[in-house]
Amino acid sequence: MTTQVSAPPIAAARVADATKLYGRAPAIVRALDAISVTVREGRWLALMGPSGSGKSTLLHCMAGLDTLTSGYAEIGGHSLGDLDDDQLTMLRREHVGFVFQAFNLIPSLTAAQNLALPITLAGGRPDRSRVEAMLANVGLSGRARHRPSELSGGQQQRVAVARALITEPDVVFADEPTGNLDSQSSSDILALFRRAVDDLGQTVAMVTHDPVAAAHADEVVFLFDGRAVDHLEAPTADRVLARIKPLGG
Ligand code: ADP
Ligand code: MG
Repeated sequence: MTTQVSAPPIAAARVADATKLYGRAPAIVRALDAISVTVREGRWLALMGPSGSGKSTLLHCMAGLDTLTSGYAEIGGHSLGDLDDDQLTMLRREHVGFVFQAFNLIPSLTAAQNLALPITLAGGRPDRSRVEAMLANVGLSGRARHRPSELSGGQQQRVAVARALITEPDVVFADEPTGNLDSQSSSDILALFRRAVDDLGQTVAMVTHDPVAAAHADEVVFLFDGRAVDHLEAPTADRVLARIKPLGG
């Protein structure tokens, strides 16, 4: 007789019982309160919640940019708590991509150089045809030699997304990636994430306060006071809005 056991979802990244405290008594802030979240491989997870609910803290701790006060965090099966600073830096370089609200491109470098930065920083030599293909992929052929100041906000963020994807990381973490963009540029960025997940099998964890942006994801986790209080599969903007309203977000 055979027994069918359904396998647990493969975690590209996850935290379990994760708590993060800031400050010291009597002014301690509990930014994360024993929260558990799994970012499933090949999926796009959106994190929503009111301002101050712990979204950025969660993203930073999941990505190894900040450390938990207690609890467990892993990326690609590597337990972050077991790594020293150098190992954590290596893990971030090889396994994680980042996209921030403020683009964070280096002003003195061209679009091509910014895009290739994760490879250059790791001591590698970026393959020119690969860089060109990535630029074309985000609709920026012919912009390789432009500096950030010569690009619109939407174009800069497209470079940032390509930079986050070029190492084929286990997870791309994005903190309000459309927060500084007009609606057309926002939908361009969201379409890039969608294609990265659907066509390249990439994994995305994205903080947003925009129900329309969250509706592009595969699932939404809602935060309140450092805890995961709700979860939505196959979100639509209307359903996201209905869940976020009672949280005051
Ligand atoms: P969100 O991204 O959802 O707006 P944050 O994760 O930035 O929330 O913040 C969660 C809580 O932690 C808030 O109360 C915030 O004030 C506090 N916080 C965040 N970063 C720090 C810090 N570096 N020092 C002290 N408190 C912080
Ligand atoms: Mg935030």
